[in-house]
Amino acid sequence: MMRVNLCKGLKRTKRFPKDNEIRFVWGKYLPELFRGKSLVRYIPNEYGPDFKIIFNKRRAANLTYPKNICPFSKFLKRRYYVIGNYILTPNLYPFAKHHRLLITKKHYANPRLKDFEFILKFCEIIPTTAILSIKGSGAGVPAHLHFQVFDEKLPVMSAKTKFLFSNGEVVVSRIIYPSYGIKIIGKNISKWVFRIIKGISYSYNLAIKGNQVIFYPRTIVLPTKSVEWRFGATELSGFIITKNKEVFDSITCEQIKKYLKKATISSRKDINEFEKKVKNAIKIKKLKKTAD
Ligand SMILES: [Zn+2]
Repeated sequence: MMRVNLCKGLKRTKRFPKDNEIRFVWGKYLPELFRGKSLVRYIPNEYGPDFKIIFNKRRAANLTYPKNICPFSKFLKRRYYVIGNYILTPNLYPFAKHHRLLITKKHYANPRLKDFEFILKFCEIIPTTAILSIKGSGAGVPAHLHFQVFDEKLPVMSAKTKFLFSNGEVVVSRIIYPSYGIKIIGKNISKWVFRIIKGISYSYNLAIKGNQVIFYPRTIVLPTKSVEWRFGATELSGFIITKNKEVFDSITCEQIKKYLKKATISSRKDINEFEKKVKNAIKIKKLKKTAD
């Protein structure tokens, strides 16, 4: 894919957007593409909040794009606003109200520290849910980094957690959920999340609400042949979106649990290894110059 700037004439900026600038842009008008005509089912489970299943025909699946053209180029023709180094635009396949994309101006796949700083700041100011999917974790356009933001509380955010470790800035706990994941809360989260990512070799998803980040280390994107969609951060968080009416009608609590478990690392050995890496990544390194 061509390495192009999403918006010609929109230069990258070193200036980090101010809080009121983020609020101002978020408050501007963008078309609301979510019609709310979807069917919804709730499935009680032992983890706390019910799983939410939504049937929505507009769900993107198996997206194909012409070669050499960035799929997001078409957003140039749509209404969008610029916040710092990001473009805010409606998601064409919404599954929630105020479903927007925050797309980086520049075409690159892997998040940089600044991207985490931005999205954490954004979620601190705007009461929205943000998710990140990348290559291997369900992204529709993995070649071009983007965050999705929407008005929907993900069930996992209210699930119980088990404390793992803390470094004085962040507290890391394990979510008690069918999908394996860790929850990170505290200060300077972007820095610590970035360090964790640097230490692992597999794909991952993030789900962010306020100053809480859930980090899912991934195994496979399609945990079952019986579904046609890739599992991303929403599915792993207990919010399943399908465009298949049969799946919508018949999916059971047991199946959901099985798929979520399969899509994230699940063996004791893998979990131990991952948590060891996280513990190492969040170690606060002592400065060489100490006053001793
Ligand atoms: Zn692009």
